Amino acid sequence: MSDEDREVLCVRCPKGCRLKLFIDENIVVKGQECKLGVDYGKKEARHPEREVPTTVKIKNARWPRLPVRSKKSVPLAKIDEVMEELRGLKVEAPVKKGEVIVQNVADTSVDIIAERDMEREV
Ligand code: SF4
Repeated sequence: MSDEDREVLCVRCPKGCRLKLFIDENIVVKGQECKLGVDYGKKEARHPEREVPTTVKIKNARWPRLPVRSKKSVPLAKIDEVMEELRGLKVEAPVKKGEVIVQNVADTSVDIIAERDMEREV
């Protein structure tokens, strides 16, 4: 047992196995029902990442906020920086679903994209 040992939920499939991570020089994962859980547990132990679904302000559209998400997961340690960058952002309609809203958000090499179309309405 080390101080870093912990439990995490595998989110690679809906089954949601509860993984036990034994973290030392090596990482031992237990509680998984398939190999994906081992990969997930090892990544969670050393380099946890999360996808970022959120909204940003949009001008000249029917709704005041546009749903967006990160195209890939970003390092968990960078989430606050990502949210801070998006908090100050204001995009302008029209926007197409999948359009890149921010390139390389918070220097993560990950883009933020629109989750839906939003027409211009003035
Ligand atoms: S360990 Fe395998 S079966 Fe269990 S939640 Fe992860 S992907 Fe699904």
